[in-house]
Amino acid sequence: MTRQVCERCLFTPSTCICGAIKRLTNKVSVVILQHPSEEKIAKNTAKLLNLSLTDCKIIKGENNTDFAMLNSLPVKSTVLLYPNEHATNLDDTNPKQALSNITHLIVIDGTWKKAYKILQLTPLLTKFKTVSFKQLPQSRYAIRKAPRADSLSTLEAVAHSLLLIEQLNPAPLYNLLDELIQKQTQHMPEHVKARYLN
Ligand SMILES: [Zn+2]
Repeated sequence: MTRQVCERCLFTPSTCICGAIKRLTNKVSVVILQHPSEEKIAKNTAKLLNLSLTDCKIIKGENNTDFAMLNSLPVKSTVLLYPNEHATNLDDTNPKQALSNITHLIVIDGTWKKAYKILQLTPLLTKFKTVSFKQLPQSRYAIRKAPRADSLSTLEAVAHSLLLIEQLNPAPLYNLLDELIQKQTQHMPEHVKARYLN
């Protein structure tokens, strides 16, 4: 049995979010590393980034072999969004000059546990500088169980990074996230919806 889905966003006609997609021209290339088990999740916010940003790739896999393309990224100007102890805070970088040198932003999609596992299996990632935030933006939705330690979805983490690095207006991305949540929860009874949003 084939389920009818929108060719662009791959959601069903009643949950299609294409009407809310606004293309954004980003300067810093976004590379999202996605564990295969994240792909099917309805609240796959990486997909929303891919639909919105003109320069955004999703690479599926879990180790060095799958992510061999990391070899082609410039080591000096590529950063990995990951809050380890060496991470430079994007909202604490003085002078701002340092941010203007960033050309590529790598983000690991998925739960914190999976991100950690991908890091362990992908030594290629260790050559890049890590960045994080000192102050987290308020998450609009706690849309994943145990999401990034900071409880931001991948979309929110990337939107906030691009705002800090290149002053990209995050509003269209948040609007698309709103649309996704609205469409996904439209037929849910209140108690189920409450659980979904937590
Ligand atoms: Zn669609």
